Amino acid sequence: MKFDVVPHPNPTDPAQIVEVLKNPGFGTNFSDHTAVIDWTAEAGWQNARVEAYAPITLDPAAAVLHYAQEVFEGMKAYRHSDGGIWTFRPFANAARMNRSARRMALPELDEQDFVQSLEQLVSADRDWVPSGEGEALYLRPFMFASEAFLGVRPAKEISYRVIASPAGNYFGGELKPVKIWVSRDYVRAAPGGTGAAKTGGNYAGSLLPQQQAAEKGCDQVLFLDPLHDNAIEELGGMNVFLVTDDGRIITPELTGTILEGITRDSVLQLARDRGLTVEERRITLDEWEAGVNDGTITEVFACGTAAVITPIGELLDGEKTIASTGTGEVTQAIREELLGIQTGAVEDRHGWMHRL
Ligand code: PMP
Repeated sequence: MKFDVVPHPNPTDPAQIVEVLKNPGFGTNFSDHTAVIDWTAEAGWQNARVEAYAPITLDPAAAVLHYAQEVFEGMKAYRHSDGGIWTFRPFANAARMNRSARRMALPELDEQDFVQSLEQLVSADRDWVPSGEGEALYLRPFMFASEAFLGVRPAKEISYRVIASPAGNYFGGELKPVKIWVSRDYVRAAPGGTGAAKTGGNYAGSLLPQQQAAEKGCDQVLFLDPLHDNAIEELGGMNVFLVTDDGRIITPELTGTILEGITRDSVLQLARDRGLTVEERRITLDEWEAGVNDGTITEVFACGTAAVITPIGELLDGEKTIASTGTGEVTQAIREELLGIQTGAVEDRHGWMHRL
């Protein structure tokens, strides 16, 4: 697909970009450009372009504002020491966006076009990629129903966009275990629902439990599956792993109610490479608690694009606290290896990195 590039008429002063990159934070500063592709039911995908980042004009009847027909992705671009800018497994994000799109009755975008949209945006905004440790340019592809129509049916006009935001170290950089609130009042997804799709409604529904967690002094929420003995599902934005004292690593299986994390899949591969026995299956909160108490579960961690891998500390389940396993060796080793691959310090033996 050919992208027309219309450079920003008044781009950010390079000195100001340097200033922003000194303390990138997360999700508050945006680069100068956006990649856009339009879709209509008649013409399909068209008008691929890179243009100035600017507010979007939407009709008040735009379907996304009423029925939340939208999906998104999240990934990072890293500046390597050779000066090149690389991203991690972008075709996996492309495939996942299309799975999410199918579930939300949105059109699929060719995987090559998805990756090209990232290449085009990063090529226009290279100066926005930070180079500090743990820093990256966060890329946010998203697709939404822009058609002005109040009937409940798949929209016939769709907009796909990519925006970019410099990102610092999530949780502040140090490997500090996060405290987790167990959500007993709310579930995130149900069988046959939209849990495996990266769609806004799942995140809107997680905000109230996240508020509850914050009130209890916790950083994140753990969602359970009450239909299956309170099997653990995932955190609001991360998948969960448990490590045992006999060399196993366990994560909830993909049943359609959790997001198929690309970090999750990569951790499974790196764990196999290390000779760990991988188990994808149901794990109940009772099994977690018993294992932590009798010492057979030695490490618990969460993983996702934003925080990479982060140890899980205490779990607060109502009045009860399930003890922390602390930061273990396996967590640390897999984290260092994965970060090393992403930042170019460790050989990319699986061919995961893609130069932008
Ligand atoms: N679960 C949820 C609900 C998420 O939003 C994310 C972040 N995309 C993840 C897990 C982790 O996925 P990934 O490793 O692809 O970032």
